[in-house]
Amino acid sequence: MMFAWSERYHSLIIGENNGNFIKSHPLTFINSTDIRPLTPLEKNILNKVQKSVELGEGIFLLFSDRMFRKKVVFTKDKILEFKITKDGVKITTFLKGRIQGVDKKNLIKANRKRLKNLTKFSLSIVKNAFKKFGKEAVISFSGGKDSLVLSHLLRKYNIPNVYIDTGMEFPETYNYIQELKKMGWKIFVIKPKFSWKTLEKKFGKPSYSNRWCSKFLKFEPFKKFLLSNFGKKSVLVFSAERRWESISRINQPYIKQQKHIENEIVVQPILDWFELDVWIYIWTKKLYVNPLYEKIPRNGCWVCPFGWKYRKFLLKYSHPELLTTHHISP
Ligand code: SF4
Repeated sequence: MMFAWSERYHSLIIGENNGNFIKSHPLTFINSTDIRPLTPLEKNILNKVQKSVELGEGIFLLFSDRMFRKKVVFTKDKILEFKITKDGVKITTFLKGRIQGVDKKNLIKANRKRLKNLTKFSLSIVKNAFKKFGKEAVISFSGGKDSLVLSHLLRKYNIPNVYIDTGMEFPETYNYIQELKKMGWKIFVIKPKFSWKTLEKKFGKPSYSNRWCSKFLKFEPFKKFLLSNFGKKSVLVFSAERRWESISRINQPYIKQQKHIENEIVVQPILDWFELDVWIYIWTKKLYVNPLYEKIPRNGCWVCPFGWKYRKFLLKYSHPELLTTHHISP
């Protein structure tokens, strides 16, 4: 049982054996491995495009079905599901009237014990990595919520963050990085040798099968950074990957040797966290999170081919200027 509903807290509880299963029942309709809160923008759009159900105060949760064909909004029960078609958004509602979301404080209380255990385990991975591979380390920091949590977990080690600017990040992310720097965060900003535009002219639009973007915009400049800062010394690169993000990540190890960079040891302390765990940590610790998440659920290149169809739909509401400047028809 991955997710259940607690009658005591009137909230969702994550995972097994977290001590809150008295008066609870499994949420068997969740047909996905990861769940997340709906962004305020998504809530507004859903309230605007249909009138049967009104998503009220509080937190609403969302999962994408395994084939990523439709998204389901829920709390204790399924509320509605929707998919993006060429004619717009197609919605099926399961409830009627105004529905209350989950109270954030209750969500935190119901999952407190789980978060404590997760944190403890993540920190044990960090400790282990230092013990085995030495003290040279950086945090791969994307400006997103996962790397924010990772950076916070590692705060006592005073490790520098490395942010790779692909040139196609959201404006909110650029501002956020500047804000963090003003707040005293140690962030190295590195840039690729060639711009997105130049590379696109040469290789075409990136796609699932033509993924030059990761190679030239991220991997190459990062490799160069490690080489000029650490030479041949072993370096721990802390990464905020989570196994529930995609099928390809599901069997990842916590610590691994980077395939192409001999002296890079990748450490993934929050591999077992669900997206909702990340949010509960952020809310519990009251962390300053990238304001992008008010609108778009995913940080990274705004043109990324992964999840493009849905992001393009949201961009029409959140960042129409990006679509216009880049001549992308809505
Ligand atoms: S976020 Fe997407 S577009 Fe950007 S480098 Fe990664 S795969 Fe490519």
